[in-house]
Amino acid sequence: MKIDISKLKFDDRGLIPAIVQDVKTDKVLMLAYMNGTSLARTVETGYTWFWSRSRQELWNKGATSGHTQKVHSITYDCDGDALLVKVEQKGAACHTGNYSCFFNPLWNSGSGESLPVADNRLPQVINELYKQIVCYQEKQKEARKLLPAPSQDKLLTELGANTTRTILASKNSDADQVVYEMGDLWYHCLVLLAYHNITPGEMLVEMAGRKVEEEK
Ligand code: AMP
Ligand code: ZN
Ligand code: ZN
Repeated sequence: MKIDISKLKFDDRGLIPAIVQDVKTDKVLMLAYMNGTSLARTVETGYTWFWSRSRQELWNKGATSGHTQKVHSITYDCDGDALLVKVEQKGAACHTGNYSCFFNPLWNSGSGESLPVADNRLPQVINELYKQIVCYQEKQKEARKLLPAPSQDKLLTELGANTTRTILASKNSDADQVVYEMGDLWYHCLVLLAYHNITPGEMLVEMAGRKVEEEK
């Protein structure tokens, strides 16, 4: 496919910065540079190609690591000097093994200084597990084709039992057990989401709107 790059402003080295964003989680993954050739290859192949400034060569993201980026869309900003590439990220976007390159805290407003840095692999793990659950449920549906739809009672009972076991582990101040039981609880929450055809992405939007409720 031919694209119109006449509105793009490449810098004096022929480069344009490309922000790469995860199409599923909206997480900003990395920043790299493209030239005309890498942009053309990206469009031709449907996978990201950049210009490596340190090695002075074209670079197909994931060529050695296997951590490829399947491109969903490319947009350019208001003044045409930056690209936004939305991708389906396989594995980690960063060569350090991090899901996103942006994990080094430099500054924050101060109040959260002692807060743990959120582990950005979590959305990936959740998405992957959710996909497996949906796959499994599809297979189950296929197998039961002529039988009535399964009731959700069994699932809700399981969810209740997981909640009780998590509470007990907490009462016993057994942190390892809390991790284990809450793992079960989160898993069954995902099963319930899948049961209602709700995606983790929808939960992400819901959670992003939440604030800590201060006690009165
Ligand atoms: P990859 O493209 O993932 O196979 O990695 C090949 C090489 O590209 C690495 O050894 C790094 O030099 C570089 N590289 C990969 N990912 C990034 C990134 N997100 N930011 C900067 N350099 C990267
Ligand atoms: Zn701009
Ligand atoms: Zn990186």
